[in-house]
Amino acid sequence: MRGAVRENVSLAPMMHLRIGGPADWLLEPYAEEDVAAAVVACRELDVPLRVLGGGSNVLVADEGVRGAVMHLASMNRIVRDGNRIAAGAGVTWPSLLRATKEVGLAGLEKLTGIPAMVGGAVAMNAGTRDGETFEHLISITVVEPDGRIAVRGRDQFRAVYRDGRLDGAIVVQATFELTPDDPKAIFERFSASLKKRNATQPVTQRSVGCVFRNPAGDAAGRLIEVAGCKTLRHGGIEVSGLHANYFINDGAGSAADFKALLDEVSKRVRDKFGVQLEPEVKFWGF
Ligand SMILES: Cc1cc2nc3c(=O)[nH]c(=O)nc-3n(C[C@H](O)[C@H](O)[C@H](O)COP(=O)(O)OP(=O)(O)OC[C@H]3O[C@@H](n4cnc5c(N)ncnc54)[C@H](O)[C@@H]3O)c2cc1C
Repeated sequence: MRGAVRENVSLAPMMHLRIGGPADWLLEPYAEEDVAAAVVACRELDVPLRVLGGGSNVLVADEGVRGAVMHLASMNRIVRDGNRIAAGAGVTWPSLLRATKEVGLAGLEKLTGIPAMVGGAVAMNAGTRDGETFEHLISITVVEPDGRIAVRGRDQFRAVYRDGRLDGAIVVQATFELTPDDPKAIFERFSASLKKRNATQPVTQRSVGCVFRNPAGDAAGRLIEVAGCKTLRHGGIEVSGLHANYFINDGAGSAADFKALLDEVSKRVRDKFGVQLEPEVKFWGF
């Protein structure tokens, strides 16, 4: 595999929450063939392999994770072809949105303020009330669990709310089909959407975004708020006073604090409404 292989690397600096212990191995491949080689090597050596994107939806245990974590930040090319734009898995979502705005391709501005990488946005089918990632996808280049590289159409995945249903495939590139529009109009929609987010969500603080998935027909944030959990705290982690489905790390929080708060909030919502909230955040090493 071309790229860096490092041992015992702290994951906290790569996580949006800035929390988490080390991975036994951190793999940083250059290109899709290197991802494929790493997948095959990990299978042969029986080493568990996880893929990390922007770290904005993962809680890593304080003790870290055993096995290998792959980070695709080097795969950060954006190529435009007419109304289509192909982005490597390591392109940050905000830079993809900037690029589409600059070339006058509309659609993704509904999805502003998501601190993902392209691979993570596809894996999670990231979205807002106004739309989701899969709506704009045409095809995805993946490395399959057996190491084969394949280009798959959007319809070959059965993506649902906050889950691209990749079945273990690793996204290395995603191609979006967008609609030509005036860059100024795109910019205005983009700014309006960002302004709305900034007013209603604690986007500048350390979090994983929404901790729980919204139950059918309701909003997890509403249930948490009515259950009286706003500003509830465990150690250095607090339920946001602005949006109750966000838990904020004040800088001193640990993964254990986060998990304890999540369990307490879950219990209070269950006791009050009889609803079992389901975490959206992924747990690594628990
Ligand atoms: C301030 C804030 C606001 C947010 N707002 C939103 C929002 O509006 N809407 C929304 O949907 N989410 C939101 N989120 C949550 C998060 O940004 C999304 O879930 C996002 O899609 C995660 O992308 P990531 O690259 O950070 O992935 P990570 O958090 O690194 O990983 C998430 C999952 O995706 C998998 N994954 C990552 N990269 C790949 C890859 N290349 N191939 C296969 N699997 C991969 C990981 O293994 C993991 O299971 C927010 C988070 C924060 C912190």
